[in-house]
Amino acid sequence: MPAAYPFSAIVGLADLRLALLLTAVNPAIGGVLVRGEKGTAKSTVVRALAILLPELDAVRGCRFGCDPSGPDPECPDGPHDATAPAVRRRSSLVELPVGATEDRVVGTLDIQRALKEGVKAYEPGLLATAHRGLLYVDEVNLLPDHLVDLLLDAAAMGRAHVERDGVSVKHAARFLLVGTMNPEEGEPRPQLVDRFGLVVSVTSPDEPAPRAEVVRRRLAYDADPDGFAARWAAEDASLAHRIADARERLAAVELPDRELDRIARICLAYGVDGLRADIVVARAALTLAAWHGRDAVTAEDVRDAARLALPHRRRRDPLDPPGTDEERLEETLSNEDFEPEPEPEPPGGGAPRGEDGVDGAESEGGAGEQPVAAPGQAYRPRVLTLPKTGERAHAGRRSLAYARRGRVVGARLPLGAGAPHLPATLRAAAARGSRTVAPGDLREAVHVGREANLVLFVVDASGSMAARQRMSTVKAAVLSLLRDAYQRRDRVGMITFRGTGADEVLPPTSSHEVGVQRLARLRTGGRTPLAAGLEAAARTLRAERRRDPRRRPLLVLVTDGRNTSGADPLTVVPSLAGTSAVVVDCEAGPVRLGLARRLAAALDAPCVPLAQLSATNRMGRAA
Ligand SMILES: [Zn+2]
Repeated sequence: MPAAYPFSAIVGLADLRLALLLTAVNPAIGGVLVRGEKGTAKSTVVRALAILLPELDAVRGCRFGCDPSGPDPECPDGPHDATAPAVRRRSSLVELPVGATEDRVVGTLDIQRALKEGVKAYEPGLLATAHRGLLYVDEVNLLPDHLVDLLLDAAAMGRAHVERDGVSVKHAARFLLVGTMNPEEGEPRPQLVDRFGLVVSVTSPDEPAPRAEVVRRRLAYDADPDGFAARWAAEDASLAHRIADARERLAAVELPDRELDRIARICLAYGVDGLRADIVVARAALTLAAWHGRDAVTAEDVRDAARLALPHRRRRDPLDPPGTDEERLEETLSNEDFEPEPEPEPPGGGAPRGEDGVDGAESEGGAGEQPVAAPGQAYRPRVLTLPKTGERAHAGRRSLAYARRGRVVGARLPLGAGAPHLPATLRAAAARGSRTVAPGDLREAVHVGREANLVLFVVDASGSMAARQRMSTVKAAVLSLLRDAYQRRDRVGMITFRGTGADEVLPPTSSHEVGVQRLARLRTGGRTPLAAGLEAAARTLRAERRRDPRRRPLLVLVTDGRNTSGADPLTVVPSLAGTSAVVVDCEAGPVRLGLARRLAAALDAPCVPLAQLSATNRMGRAA
């Protein structure tokens, strides 16, 4: 195997490197979540860190990585006595594969041995292998919830606990947890983000010189990995020493009351939930002091720790535009006593504005172009359900989960309906110490389906909609529906139509933040090519059906129904046959034509007047 890319050869990414080094010194900080788009070398940096971790002694033959100087008393391979022979080895680097099963993660009963020898043999999982090393989860936001919970629980407790099929196993699992995610693939649950100690955002360098240097080193490494690694070996070795030194120094570092106060003030001013943030900042500040060879925490350590530990911990609306947290934190830090007062904020607004929101040079049509309307206040919308859903509804979801056909997530005692789960059935027999299956051993599979929907917004952005500041109300409505989709973990997409055609402004994605940005930037004006909007929707839905046939789409058409350009929208309706839809009727003013209602009837869709979309004034404004 060729040598890994050396840590010291990495260009830029200072925050990420520091965050990783700090958790290597002090895993109690609680892991690192790395946010960044593809091609930002996230994986390279994480793998490079594993090389820096100090070598360790382990009890020979123990598959759970026991430390000979303090073996785990509950070790399934134990008990180990003080004279057990030890081996010296590298810290492990475990990469959780995409599509890992629960068995693979927590371990499982060894069916083969159980059936052949009639003994309860436990096969350790990845959590055991990662003990005292590094567990790396690429695309942590795409991992199923139950596996994420398993990982985070183990990381927090430093132990894994497996209880299944009559077997109960506990073992030590202290590891440095590093997760990466691409925000474009969808935001992880806020609870998940909160459980990582440090969160770092990475981007590619935006200056030519460092970009060139990244490429130069990459080419040199690819041409001769071993030679390249050898040239950086001394620097990597000195980093490894520094980690070991800082680990030793850490216990003696002091946190003066003055700095502890500062941490509390910053956390309060920044508006975090609970006390966890204070504790993480304190740990990170102590570790920073140790890293810099100091005996006591300084104001600088507190500030640097806050930058790594706080941005993701503010009580916030999940749909706040990204970047707000960092700005707010800098403002909080600069209000601390070591910096001059910041420039006052420009008054008013606060609504996100697109950079293309001011110049109308490249817009089509031109005539009737309206300024970008800021969205009005979002609210809790009524739940838009899929009226054509089959047998049975699922609480809190728009449509039923595919509970008979989904992914197998576990096994249970039979309720009579499910398919038998063969491995679990054999394990149950083995757990009794039996090599033959008795009726009582039967287990059935537990499935979960893709419970989320695709919500495709088709938004009329024509001039008639822009009249009388209506667009601000429409944006508030779509924003509210976006937030609702976010909470339900639906995918969302958005198509707008105005002028001469339709635009897929947001291809279906799980990233609701992007939806909010696109919505804020949405420009209005021009004629109304309603048919073009519906055609674009039909195209998008066809493509999505091929991609994920099980995800049920919901089309939300937001329009006043006035068609002033292109074909008659009713001619496009057949291409949307079978699609569940809701029409949000934006018609306003004294003279109403009821065009949106007519279109809704043709789509076999309910028609909700814009004013009745809010869950709270649903009853009050019935026309
Ligand atoms: Zn052991």
